[in-house]
Amino acid sequence: MPALSDVIASEGELINWRHHLHAHPELAYDETITADFIAARLHEMGLDVHRGLGGTGVVGTLRSGNAGDTIGIRADIDALPIHEANEKLGYRSRHDGKMHACGHDGHTVMALGAAKYLAQTRKFRGTVHFVFQPAEEGGAGAAAMIKDGLFKLFPMSALFALHNRPGLARGKFGIRAGYGSSATSRFEIEVQGRDAHAAMPQQGVDGLMVGAKMVDAILMIAARTINPNDMMGIAITDFRSGIGWGIIPGAASLKGAFRSYKPEVQAATEAALRRAVEGIASAYGAQMKLTVTPGYPSLRNDKTLAAFAAETAVEIFGADNVDGDCPPSLASEDFSYYCEHVKCAYGWIGNGDGPEGCTVHNAHYDFNDRILSNGASYFARLVERSLPADAS
Ligand SMILES: [Zn+2]
Ligand SMILES: [Zn+2]
Repeated sequence: MPALSDVIASEGELINWRHHLHAHPELAYDETITADFIAARLHEMGLDVHRGLGGTGVVGTLRSGNAGDTIGIRADIDALPIHEANEKLGYRSRHDGKMHACGHDGHTVMALGAAKYLAQTRKFRGTVHFVFQPAEEGGAGAAAMIKDGLFKLFPMSALFALHNRPGLARGKFGIRAGYGSSATSRFEIEVQGRDAHAAMPQQGVDGLMVGAKMVDAILMIAARTINPNDMMGIAITDFRSGIGWGIIPGAASLKGAFRSYKPEVQAATEAALRRAVEGIASAYGAQMKLTVTPGYPSLRNDKTLAAFAAETAVEIFGADNVDGDCPPSLASEDFSYYCEHVKCAYGWIGNGDGPEGCTVHNAHYDFNDRILSNGASYFARLVERSLPADAS
């Protein structure tokens, strides 16, 4: 089945919408112009519009026929604090230091395109809520919408989303059952020893040396504490110490993050980290403070729903272009919060490889307009297949 081109019609219209959003990026919880734009389009299509969940969130509701089941389609709407480097782009960000560098402009338009098609054709029976969510980039907008009553005001039996994936060829689609993205926790370590003359080390406690031992021990956690069958990545990304020539520094600080799919692996990693740094500090007589800050939980797709989403994707992308066992992503994603409340299926749409493959969160990235209608068609078919018009 080709893209639902008769409405999505106007692929040109989708591209115009995308370029408008791209030119006017807004950061987490500040997406007021974006939310106004989304709400205006949904009103034009005849959907019921609810605003204010999670601050700037927008929910558009479309009903067809009597009763029937209810599902949701989610798009994220926020941009990143990146200064766009695509100097020649006609629709380059008008807001210095802000940029749609993760393609949420494209996700928003794919959901709007599906809403427009479904509002016109109504070849389904039931209710669909289009959830436009703020603050995916670190602000946990999903959790904010849930806290404000998303699932109480808009109960649903399933929720779908997708993210563009650079490096995956245009026209390809991937999804997987089970874990789709990792949980991430940040950590920070402050080491406090005692400064000393470099010629009199016995009078000090060398914080730099203690920090270096910690680096070594922390990087060994994945290799010697975690089951090799369980992916766990740990990185130290900042290590500071030192005062100058002739002084053994007492203080050091380290920062890093660890990520894995299973909550028990995150917990085991945190315990091993604490054991290692406490033991090393104590061995050398230093004081230390470890702070661990959990980020988004890991994302878990429902097995049956992921299979259903893959079947649906085959209609749009073709059997040869759909990978139903796509490798998960280590980038965390706040869609995971929804998965704790409702059956979810989160997939990836190829944004292009080769010259089109610029990674997200890069100042040269751009969402690929040529995948808009396929993404919108995928969302629309998910609704038509989840809520069949001839269901009794
Ligand atoms: Zn992102
Ligand atoms: Zn993103």
